[in-house]
Amino acid sequence: MRKERGLLIVLSGPSGVGKGTVRKELFSQPDTNYEYSISMTTRKAREGEVDGVDYFFKDKEDFEVLIEQGKLLEYAQYVGNYYGTPIDYVNQTLDAGRDVFLEIEVQGATQIREKVPDGLFIFLAPPSLSELQSRLVGRGTETEDVIANRIAAANKELEMMNLYDYVVENDEVTLACDRINSIVVAEHCRRERV
Ligand code: 5GP
Repeated sequence: MRKERGLLIVLSGPSGVGKGTVRKELFSQPDTNYEYSISMTTRKAREGEVDGVDYFFKDKEDFEVLIEQGKLLEYAQYVGNYYGTPIDYVNQTLDAGRDVFLEIEVQGATQIREKVPDGLFIFLAPPSLSELQSRLVGRGTETEDVIANRIAAANKELEMMNLYDYVVENDEVTLACDRINSIVVAEHCRRERV
């Protein structure tokens, strides 16, 4: 069977939908077959977050240099901070035949859609908007202003759902992970025909 470049898997969806939780669950499974691309951000580290594990934390000036040097596959400004995907890691890993998994917001996913049209785009959707709002409030990591901005961003992000190849409802983390794993397996079977 043909197996060349790895598959670029983009998991996207509104803030608060549980992308981070789903991603951590996927990567805690012993048989995970994808490599996680660690993003860069200018956001301050939250308690417990580790530089080089959760994100590469950068200051704004350094991030803007990386943009100018073309070192990011995509980047976006999200609620006052930059977030971006280092391009070299993604290309090297895909070239080595390994799948790469990105967990990013929708503006970045839209950029990747143009640059990597054969990527696999999965939208993680909340069971409902009210459920999403209560998750954003319940997380307790952000101030009221930040929560309000994230809810506004989430409303816009939900409108983008139809641009994705698949929509996975995050009603339950393990179920969402099972659906994502199944989609990836199915995509490989579909694409690797002789
Ligand atoms: P948080 O501040 O909660 O860690 O992330 C905020 C948003 O930025 C989330 O929707 C997250 O998925 C997204 N994000 C994380 N890394 C990247 C990235 O490299 N690029 C883009 N465009 N969004 C990212």
